[in-house]
Parts: sequence; structure tokens; C-alpha cells
Amino acid sequence: MNEQSRIDIRGVTKLYGPVRAVNNVDLTIEGGAYCCMIGPSGCGKTTLLRMIAGHETPTSGTISIGGEDVTHARTGSRGTALMFQNYALFPHLSLTDNVGFSLKVRGVPSAERRDTAREMLGRVQLLHLADRVPSELSGGQQQRVALARALITKPKVLLLDEPLSALDEFLRLRMRVELKRLQNQLGITFIHVTHTQPEAIALADQVVVMDHGVIDQAASPREVYNHPHSPYVARFMGGQNVLTGTVDAVDAGQTVVRSKDGTLYDLPAVAGAGPGDTVNFSVRRDRIHLASDLGGGRNCTEGTVANIEYQGTFVKVALDTGSREEFVAYLDVDRYYAAPNEVGQRVRASWEARFNHVLPGQNNSTGTPHED
Ligand code: ADP
Ligand code: MG
Repeated sequence: MNEQSRIDIRGVTKLYGPVRAVNNVDLTIEGGAYCCMIGPSGCGKTTLLRMIAGHETPTSGTISIGGEDVTHARTGSRGTALMFQNYALFPHLSLTDNVGFSLKVRGVPSAERRDTAREMLGRVQLLHLADRVPSELSGGQQQRVALARALITKPKVLLLDEPLSALDEFLRLRMRVELKRLQNQLGITFIHVTHTQPEAIALADQVVVMDHGVIDQAASPREVYNHPHSPYVARFMGGQNVLTGTVDAVDAGQTVVRSKDGTLYDLPAVAGAGPGDTVNFSVRRDRIHLASDLGGGRNCTEGTVANIEYQGTFVKVALDTGSREEFVAYLDVDRYYAAPNEVGQRVRASWEARFNHVLPGQNNSTGTPHED
């Protein structure tokens, strides 16, 4: 880990009049990590990024980079570079001059500027186009110029605000690979804001899930996906069914929860929960088994098939179980087509008790996550 590029955010709040854009955030990002910040529009991602970059000042709290308090340091002096969403390239300048621009502002002599700019263009595989102007490039190439331009100041931390959102699906996947490769080569900290879950999961060492100005969970992608902290994170990251019940019995390391319809669920111990308390839990969509013989039992739910979608590598079956949220099963293609379901059919969805995952965090979100 690179201590020089570690970021410590402590108690940071940003108010815009009455709006709490960022609310008392604590976060450590290890030096050299690829961090993805994710959350719905308006949850404070850009504001937090801009405070790290020095384009905004926190209302309270501190931000340190490499152990040094930079809360009030100038933008150009804190070792960060921000890549803008709209690239903001100069239309009349060559790629070399675009990339070298910030060195010119710093008074670096022309020959040195040119060499460094060409080195950066080489890093993003655009050296062969160095003399072109931006309008002679594709969207993906312009993106890479913007990246080279941000990197030329040799930042300790590169900040990217939804860098791939203007690209089509194909380019987005290619640029994603390229960003990861660059970050590996450079060994600096990347903080990448996105609102798409697959992007965060694919790229990040650390995923930071935000909601209404606060961090709901900050952990590795596998941890966030497999052990979401709250109903909000489970819904937002996708792939999960969220269920609710009240504690029926607590017994040596086991909690039995009863749902509204009376079904019992065997959960692991729930810290601090006693009889009658509400407990949220989740079960992954790919852990579900569907059967047409109804007949109750534990760790299951009955429902009516509402929708069936073939997804190539699996079949997605949505059930109406009478609760507000649909219940979804991802089924193995071969097994599904050996005994397919029909819309309107009554089925029983069941799973092994060990797949019940407790969601200890508050169910405090009003946001509806995107569907996959
Ligand atoms: P995100 O990037 O997650 O979409 P933002 O950080 O842009 O969210 O915004 C968080 C909240 O702060 C929103 O409610 C937004 O309207 C508000 N906000 C952001 N910038 C400003 C500003 N300059 N003035 C007033 N309100 C702002
Ligand atoms: Mg934003």
C-alpha cells in the first residue's frame, strides 16, 4: 500500500443552504486502492469527490491525503487530479498541447512539456494520434485524452466523476479494462463515481455505497454483494430478495423469524434482537429453488409467477408474493426448461436456511434502486 496516497475523511459535512449534501462522513481509502463510490442521483457522490479535489470546502470535518490535512489546501497543491465527465478538451489544440496544457500553466519549458505529454499519450495508447485535434477522435479516444491530461500532473489521487457514462456499452467495457490497467501500472489511488453496480463490482477494491449524504457500507465488492449491511444496500447492489419478519424465538446462536404470513425462517444469531423485534434479512436470487407442489415448510415463500425472462445464462422468474416487492429467482437454464413455469402459476420458492443473510442496518431508504 502506498501511504502517500491514502485518504482519510473525518466527520465531513457539506451544507448547501438547508440541503445536507454530505452528512458527517467518515471514510478511509487505502493508498493505491481503486475505490468506487456508488449511489442514486443526488446522494452526494459528486460533492464528496469535489471536496477531495478541493473544488469545494467542507462545512465541517477534515480531509487528509497521505497523512497531511488538505481540507483547505488549494486544488493544484494537494496531489489530486479530477477528470471531468464532459472531458472539457480544447477544440483547437492538438492532443499533445491538450495533454500538456497544465504543464504550460506551471511554466514548464516547451520541449519538456511535449515529451511528457507524449509519454502520457503513450500510456493511453494514443501516441500515434498526437497531432490530431479532438474533433478528429471518437468518443472513447477523447475520453483517453482527458485521462492523459489528468494524469500529467502526476497526481497521488485520480478522481473520476462518472467517467464512462457518455460512452456506448461496448466502449464502456473496454475503457473499464483500461482504467483498471492504468491504475495497476501507476499504483495511485483512483476514486471513481458511478451509478452502475456492475461497474463498481468489476473495478473496485473498495465499494462505497452512499444514500442521502451518508455512507451505508464501505467494503470489498464481494463483501458488499454477499453481505450487504442493510436492506438499502441489498436492494441497490441487486441480486437479492429482501424479507422482513419478527423474532419468534432466540436459541443458542440461532434466531427464528416469523413473516407476516406465518412462515418461519432460520437465521443466524441477530445481535441484540429479542422476541417481537423486527428483523430484515436477504436471500440471493440465485439460491432459490422453485417447485409447483405447495405445502408450506420453513425458509420458503409462496407466490404467483408474474414474469419469466430468459437471460442467456439463467432464467429470471419474478413472483408476486403479496408483499410490495417482487420476489425473484435466477434459475439454471437446463433445469428450468426441463420443467418450465407459466405466468399465473402458483409456486413455492424455497432455499437452504444457511442462505438467509441478516441485514443489521436500518431500513432507512426511500430510494428505489435500478433494476438489473
Ligand atoms: P450526486 O453526485 O450523488 O448525484 P451531488 O453531490 O451532485 O449528488 O448532490 C448532492 C445534493 O446536493 C443534491 O441534493 C444536490 O441538489 C445538492 N447540491 C449539489 N451541488 C449543489 C450546489 N452547488 N448548490 C446547491 N445544492 C447543491
Ligand atoms: Mg454527480
